[in-house]
Amino acid sequence: MTQPVACSFCNKHQQDVERLIAGPPGIYICNECVKVCTAVVAEEERKHLNSAPKKEDWMDELPTPKEIKTALDEHIIEQDYAKEVVSVAVYNHYKRLFKTSEQFPDIEIKKSNILIAGPTGTGKTLIAQRLAKLLNVPFTIADATTLTESGYVGDDVENMLFRLLQVANNDISRAQRGIIYLDEIDKISRKSESASITRDVSGEGVQQALLKLLEGSEVNVPLKGGRKNPSEETVTIDTTNILFICGGAFHGIEKMIEKRLNTHSLGFIGDDQQAEKQDDASIFSAINTEDLLQFGIIPELIGRISVIAPMHALSKDNLAEILTQPKHAIVKQYQALMDMDGIALTIEPEAIQMIAAIAANRKVGARALRAIVEDLMMPHMYTLPGSDTASVCIKADDVRAYMADNASVKERESFALAIDT
Ligand code: ADP
Repeated sequence: MTQPVACSFCNKHQQDVERLIAGPPGIYICNECVKVCTAVVAEEERKHLNSAPKKEDWMDELPTPKEIKTALDEHIIEQDYAKEVVSVAVYNHYKRLFKTSEQFPDIEIKKSNILIAGPTGTGKTLIAQRLAKLLNVPFTIADATTLTESGYVGDDVENMLFRLLQVANNDISRAQRGIIYLDEIDKISRKSESASITRDVSGEGVQQALLKLLEGSEVNVPLKGGRKNPSEETVTIDTTNILFICGGAFHGIEKMIEKRLNTHSLGFIGDDQQAEKQDDASIFSAINTEDLLQFGIIPELIGRISVIAPMHALSKDNLAEILTQPKHAIVKQYQALMDMDGIALTIEPEAIQMIAAIAANRKVGARALRAIVEDLMMPHMYTLPGSDTASVCIKADDVRAYMADNASVKERESFALAIDT
């Protein structure tokens, strides 16, 4: 006689339950036990989301501003003043979380978000990225121009926090002390013409949402990301200790800075000094909140950003350094790639200078470098693996040939000028 089939968990027989699901031979589970198990797993997940940070998830000791700057120096060429300003701001931000002042128990230290302002491709995003790596905190990048108020088509603020939560492995407390890099903040200024047509017309709603976020508010984030729907499970993320680093190029702000400097200095410096033209790089370093206001950033937003780190444009020599000096310099990356195939890659110093000159001409900072090196390397990366060749050298003539094949007449002309200077 065959045994009646029963649930291996609760022992109920087949006829006493709605369904019995078969597993490996002789193992069954009934629909009621499936329900109980699902609830247990969900509860476990919820506990994990709210659990306190594990020691290894958080740095042992907060690095000092000098240590932070030294760590940034390994990766970011130039921008010393901005790196110092950011190091102090980040140190102060995390000190609030690390230490409590016994001397001033009643004083609540407000957080200060950071603005990194400067031309494109000068290392703004890289600074934010390296800070997050150094401090071992979750990090995400959002583009202010695509942000929308909830309910509009685009990327809403909840999604940005959802991504941070994902990077934090769904650990809420870890996400709550992460870093969000908010790019293109200059493009949501009042006077900006690049307002997205998909978001609310004035951008006012986005700015309001941003203000609350930057200051610190509790936001309900859908556990599965995407559009919020009323029935979806959410978790609450408090943004009070999230460090927002805003970045923007602020095209044209130099004129405003220059005008302010000239107006303010009237009467107490000599005419000849006044007439002395400052170059754009040093002008940018004088940027202050007055200029941001004039540029069209709303006062409330400026109020939430208390630290401004100015970046300057990179010279041809800076770009040459970026190719070879940082810890993960582009040339080092290609050398490592080729080395995996047993091929030693070298690039002639003159070729490095020429690549830097081409990139400088393209006016997108260090962003142009990778594409140029990639183009120069492509034929070698195609033919050399699997061949007998043990070394390859990129020469100045290779760069010349690349220019002849790829550049427009205009680019070739300005390249020739740049090479000479
Ligand atoms: P942006 O200022 O527009 O945010 P990024 O930080 O994204 O520029 O820079 C783009 C790339 O250029 C980086 O990934 C990095 O490789 C390189 N880069 C830019 N500026 C620097 C710098 N100052 N030092 C080293 N690398 C840099």
